[in-house]
Amino acid sequence: MGSRPYGRPQGSRQAGRDGRRLAWGAAALLVAGIAVPAAASASQSGGGADAAALAAGHGPKKAKNVILLIGDGMGDSEITLARDYTVGAAGRLNMDTFPLTGAYTTYSVDSSGKPDYVTDSAASGTGWATGHKTVNGRISKTPGTDKPMTTILELAQKNGLATGSVTTAELTDATPAVLASHATDRSCQGPADMKACPGDTIAKGGPGSIAEQSVNHKVDVLLGGGKARFDQKITEGPYKGMTVTDQAKKLGYQVVTDDKSLGGLKSDKPVLGLFAPGNIPVEWTGKAAAVGGTDPQRCVTSNPERAAGTPSLEAQTRKAVQLLEAKGSGKKSSKKNGFFLQVEGASIDKRDHAADPCGQIGETASFDRAVKAARDYAATHPDTLVVTTADHGHSSQIVPLEATPPGLSSTLVTDEGRQLKVNYSTNTPGKSQEHTGTQVRIAAQGPQAERVLGVTDQTQLFTTIRTALSLR
Ligand SMILES: [Zn+2]
Repeated sequence: MGSRPYGRPQGSRQAGRDGRRLAWGAAALLVAGIAVPAAASASQSGGGADAAALAAGHGPKKAKNVILLIGDGMGDSEITLARDYTVGAAGRLNMDTFPLTGAYTTYSVDSSGKPDYVTDSAASGTGWATGHKTVNGRISKTPGTDKPMTTILELAQKNGLATGSVTTAELTDATPAVLASHATDRSCQGPADMKACPGDTIAKGGPGSIAEQSVNHKVDVLLGGGKARFDQKITEGPYKGMTVTDQAKKLGYQVVTDDKSLGGLKSDKPVLGLFAPGNIPVEWTGKAAAVGGTDPQRCVTSNPERAAGTPSLEAQTRKAVQLLEAKGSGKKSSKKNGFFLQVEGASIDKRDHAADPCGQIGETASFDRAVKAARDYAATHPDTLVVTTADHGHSSQIVPLEATPPGLSSTLVTDEGRQLKVNYSTNTPGKSQEHTGTQVRIAAQGPQAERVLGVTDQTQLFTTIRTALSLR
């Protein structure tokens, strides 16, 4: 806490390695008889070089592991805002230096399958988790008929891979929920929250709440917030009278609640980490945007509401990878076939809804450190596909200092000492700011990464992961 998220620009460390990459990629291009523009330089972090190498057929085609990182609500303007504030306009975040970058569309559908141009996280997550679009609010079930659809995590399990999900939200929130549960509505998070999902209750022969389904799926590593949800009492079925946490323990889970107990974990038993009663409190704080703007402010890089011992998203990601790697490669393990891990930076979205630029930037920077953790692993495990993307665009826009836009604004003083004005105008001040229907970035490295190039749809990410892992 309190330290700047980035000690120095990324460029200096990258230059040497990328310079070599460029030479290698350029050679491949020359062999193929294609001219290399002189402007392609090491300062571009080698993107073109790796793209060329991949196009020329280098690198493994089959992935042993996949790490999918989702910045919730992290559209291009959210990325730019975090970059401008933390590493400077000419700096580069970890997520900016993937070798291959494309864009994907995120729209959802109505119950008849017609486009709904602005998605929510439930329909969006269902898109990559199942390869099919659904209605806003629904978790991995069909839009009209409300039938469960097989998810990428279920397929990974069926193929003998270890699986994990890490988030800064409640583990029952929409983005983690799409992997290991099927619900008519995203609100059906705990046994006491089933009002909107009458057909999913255990009494009606359904699979129960998102919390119950998550542990019943025996996902190997579940780390995030939402302890209060898991402490709700189950009202029907074989676990009636127990909390979901007790059910998890009965199913063999070890339950941890802080960074110390998380750090000490070694066992091959499944892990349920619940690090906050609700969403994990954000890392940074500051003044919310206001009608007519704020005085120029610097963000506070701490939050008194964040309990000591709360693991960062980066720490959770590193531990999840370590646990899954042990499971996915262990001789004794039944899961020697690698792993699938999803990591969500959830509160970029939540602070964007609240027009809180400092909270939002702090969470984006925190997410970017989790991206580095994943890429550090992939650097020594090149058979790992790493994908970083968002589920939808969001409200924040960088506007000129002299602009007087409607809605809520704040002026920030960036780490490079410049003023930056951010505006939130997707809803009336006082109401929650809204998602937008823009396409978002998708970037990748590793086997099948070239599939993210161009403009794709987020449902194609399902096929990319499935193909990379050869899941049947
Ligand atoms: Zn949202």
